[in-house]
Amino acid sequence: KKIAILGGGESGIGTAILAKKKGYTVFLSDKGKIKEKYREVLRNIKVEWEDERHTEAKIFDAEIVMKSPGIPDSAPMIKRLREEGIQVVSEIEFASWFSEVPVVGITGSNGKTTVTNLVQHLLKKGGIKSGMGGNIGNSYAKMVADDEPDWFVLELSSFQLDGIESFRPHIGILTNITPDHLDRYDYKLENYIDSKFRITKNQTEGDYFIYDADDKNITDWLDKHSIRSQKLPFSLERKFENGAYIENEQIVVKINNTQFTMPTSELALQGKHNAKNAMAAATVAQLLRIRKQTIRESMADFDGVEHRLEKVLKINNVLYINDSKATNVNATFYALESMESETVWIIGGVDKGNIYDDLLPLVNEKVKAIICLGVDNDKIKRSFGNIVETMLETTSMDEAVKMAYRLADKGDNVLLSPACASFDLFENYEDRGRQFKDAVRNL
Ligand code: ADP
Repeated sequence: KKIAILGGGESGIGTAILAKKKGYTVFLSDKGKIKEKYREVLRNIKVEWEDERHTEAKIFDAEIVMKSPGIPDSAPMIKRLREEGIQVVSEIEFASWFSEVPVVGITGSNGKTTVTNLVQHLLKKGGIKSGMGGNIGNSYAKMVADDEPDWFVLELSSFQLDGIESFRPHIGILTNITPDHLDRYDYKLENYIDSKFRITKNQTEGDYFIYDADDKNITDWLDKHSIRSQKLPFSLERKFENGAYIENEQIVVKINNTQFTMPTSELALQGKHNAKNAMAAATVAQLLRIRKQTIRESMADFDGVEHRLEKVLKINNVLYINDSKATNVNATFYALESMESETVWIIGGVDKGNIYDDLLPLVNEKVKAIICLGVDNDKIKRSFGNIVETMLETTSMDEAVKMAYRLADKGDNVLLSPACASFDLFENYEDRGRQFKDAVRNL
């Protein structure tokens, strides 16, 4: 069989490795430039490839096309391929054809990476051999080609879910839904919500769906649609016969008459949003029958994930926190909510249509000074100018951190939680976070 792979990033290369191993004739094509580390892989596995062009004759000669998640369904070539009856799938779908290993699939607007890492940590400590990847780290296809663990733990973006047909996670998690990437969904929130729910599309009776029952976008959808898997909600506000909730400052996970409890104060990751992430992960651990003591220990010693409310250093009793991954307002909302001291807040970057209204009460209560770190700070100044007295501006991370150092008093926090994308001043959010940490360490 012939497969054409569009895109030479992580998922394209993973697909090439797996397809070659399974005896496909592979042609990989990328309109942009393929990174040298990936070119080397392609040379090693000896498949045909090209970059900085698309040779249509070869692409249209394939029976199956794998489309990388970055390419929208509306791209003219994708439309024409479908018109010609050529099957177009995502890497997640393709990989699933060659693996019987059960999957925990994690999607949502925020918290995916945190929950994915926490689930992986719990499984590892519980003695379950698992491979973690998907939207982070190794592609699913590459893992399927390389290894056969007991479980795969996959972070899944909505773009990856859009291209599935038969992929079925035994356990699906939906962390939350807030508007994001709407440009890819005809600017309709309901299309984006439908996309997230594709995680349940092929689930059957023996499967599980774990979700945030405090999220109205999620519960409204569930009111209108039926799914076949067993629903296991988690909530900070309600209790369930089957599900996870908070009672007497403890996390409670109840599934079919088994019960797990743990004081929230013992969780390694603090903040309300992380209590939700912990409930989701503990539900998985409970389903996989990991010992309760092991679950507790693992959730207490989890190191967290870089750039997500990452504690960097304490200097003069001021705690510096790197939340560079907060590229939208919702993520920053939770960051501010979890601040337990007065906070000097570094915000700014490329605005993705941000509306800051939801943040006003938190900013009023917790933020003593704002440092705008972006090229265009007008909207931030307009939104918070009336409630925060001290507002400074800079385009240098070093300078931003020095300003914060001067403004913070003993016991305060300095929080980098930009609520914006990073492309005006940095390569990506990782670069932004690393520059922040370097600047803090240089103080
Ligand atoms: P994703 O992989 O979905 O982008 P991350 O785990 O990388 O999610 O977290 C992204 C940002 O969202 C971080 O700033 C983090 O602190 C915040 N966050 C983490 N979990 C949640 C949650 N359950 N709800 C809202 N925000 C969250």
